[in-house]
Amino acid sequence: MKEIVDRIQELKKKHNAVILAHYYQIPEIQAVADMVGDSYGLSKKSADTDADVIVFCGVKFMAESAKILSPEKTVILPNMDAGCPMADMITAEDVKKLKKQYPDAAFVCYVNTSAEVKAECDVCCTSSNSVKIVNSLEQKRIVFLPDKNLGRYVAENAENKEVITVDGYCPVHDIIVAGQVLEAKEKYPGAPFLVHPECPDDVIELADFVGSTTQILNQAGEVEAKTIIVGTEDGILYKLKEQNPDKEFVMVSSNFVCDDMKKTTLNDLLMAFESLEASKPINVIELDEEIRSKAQASLDRMLELS
Ligand code: SF4
Repeated sequence: MKEIVDRIQELKKKHNAVILAHYYQIPEIQAVADMVGDSYGLSKKSADTDADVIVFCGVKFMAESAKILSPEKTVILPNMDAGCPMADMITAEDVKKLKKQYPDAAFVCYVNTSAEVKAECDVCCTSSNSVKIVNSLEQKRIVFLPDKNLGRYVAENAENKEVITVDGYCPVHDIIVAGQVLEAKEKYPGAPFLVHPECPDDVIELADFVGSTTQILNQAGEVEAKTIIVGTEDGILYKLKEQNPDKEFVMVSSNFVCDDMKKTTLNDLLMAFESLEASKPINVIELDEEIRSKAQASLDRMLELS
């Protein structure tokens, strides 16, 4: 493995590339990345980096976001099969129909959407800034796409807004049930429960803290408790343990795994870099310029408002 990592680092330097990885990636990928973050942090990094090549270890909508914000750069998704089932639950055609149905509404889409959907919406948001973004809009009526759980969380926490949701959901976070949380709380009395807002409402009601992956990481460092119950994808354990070696983390469910987030391997990364070296880059993200620029307006507005 060391040989592969050394070669990746050598080619990364040679091609002025940056490796970005989501917190849900496998530990070997997180270890080799220049930055590990959630969707929001990685979007900002994509916009700011002076690298010529962005190698994005995540799922397709994330690499698309990097391309939207940095059209002049080469953006590579090392494993093109890594998608997001929730992002696939809404299409640009669906948004166009909803716009006819709710002509007075502002359309807010989670970053977990395709470039085409972003292009049809007014502004994007992430799980860390969704309430702030919705509150900052002048329209009272908001159509929030596509995650019904995050949309409901926004509806409950935004001020004086009517939030309309559709039936999208994250298949990883949506399957957690309140009984699993209660069991963990009984087994570890006093342990705080930190959860992602993509989970169902009866699970959120049991939480001591609700936040994005980065916010959960920050909160885990701040609480005094030595045992913490975690309600999000298990890739977060790598950073939680690295940043808090004296604490114990209990996952609510052993099924908290996003298969798409685990698809990218070190070999995929190496192949992507070797293709750059051969001047025949593979798995390059390409977007139609009209869609890209409209999607950029939605992402730019999010970056301005948050
Ligand atoms: S964890 Fe859920 S929202 Fe994130 S990539 Fe996987 S399916 Fe999509």
